[in-house]
Amino acid sequence: MYKAKEEGKNCYQVYSSELTEAAIEKVQLESDLRRAVERNEFILYYQPQVTLPAGKIVAMETLVRWQHPDLGLVPPDKFIPLCEETGLIVPIGEWILTAACEQLLTWRKQGMGVRRIAVNLSGHQIQQKNLPEMVEKVLLETGCPSGSLELEITEGFIMQHPEQAISVLQQIRKLGVELSIDDFGTGHSSLNYLKRLPINRLKVDRSFVWDIGENPDGEAITRAIIAMGQSLNLNITAEGIETPEQREFVESHGCNEAQGFLFSRPLPAEGISELLERGISIPEI
Ligand code: C2E
Ligand code: MG
Ligand code: MG
Repeated sequence: MYKAKEEGKNCYQVYSSELTEAAIEKVQLESDLRRAVERNEFILYYQPQVTLPAGKIVAMETLVRWQHPDLGLVPPDKFIPLCEETGLIVPIGEWILTAACEQLLTWRKQGMGVRRIAVNLSGHQIQQKNLPEMVEKVLLETGCPSGSLELEITEGFIMQHPEQAISVLQQIRKLGVELSIDDFGTGHSSLNYLKRLPINRLKVDRSFVWDIGENPDGEAITRAIIAMGQSLNLNITAEGIETPEQREFVESHGCNEAQGFLFSRPLPAEGISELLERGISIPEI
């Protein structure tokens, strides 16, 4: 029944032993996850965001990983959905936000000019009515200036409960925190809601960026997103830039920031400190 509901309801599913195995695996992962919270097994990686055309680092996006004792480094896609289902995203999300703000201040104390720290929020977090209070509390406790924090929310999450999202995001924006829409172009945005959202930035989803040089439709969508963002006075970050051609394309169409393996992969804080000291060398166009 649950499998049928997951598949969008109004269908049937036949029992198979894989379903039991998957269920056992999930129960195991859930109990591991509860233990991980107690033992603080999460670590934060950071990926630089650079200005275009200069290629200068301005910000870092915080990307969580789980250091599992047996499974090794688990990527967020494998455990964030379960964190949401179990409600564990609330304490984990607060820990991530606190640790990211502290890390930004550490870099600044070391004289490294990181202007912004970006942190991802999940749909479950946006549905928490006290999210603005939690953000305010973390800013006060860490001493992180509100204008140095940017929260990324995926388009799909906003569109699931748009009215509630608008109200929560407006309260967060009032704190002075910046807001960006992540994975833009993938989540059935209503342009009517987009107009009402108190956002500062659109992040062009990497699936469109990867089409550059391969698929004219993807290129057209990338150009259209950049043009729309510009006319709404929003900053635009292109995600998933892997090649100089992709960089050149988004840059020539007016995109003002970029992020991707071309500049740097996500790294633990120490790796980023080294990178900041050295300065990243970006391939010439
Ligand atoms: P996202 O926020 O869109 O993050 C960007 C993802 O794209 C990261 O994957 C990053 O490693 C990957 N990426 C960046 N540049 C490139 C590139 O040039 N090529 C390729 N192939 N990939 C690139 P990651 O770290 O596995 O994160 C996946 C997703 O998990 C994130 O997507 C975000 O939605 C979610 N996530 C990560 N950290 C957190 C967190 O702290 N809280 C919440 N709620 N979600 C998180
Ligand atoms: Mg993101
Ligand atoms: Mg993204």
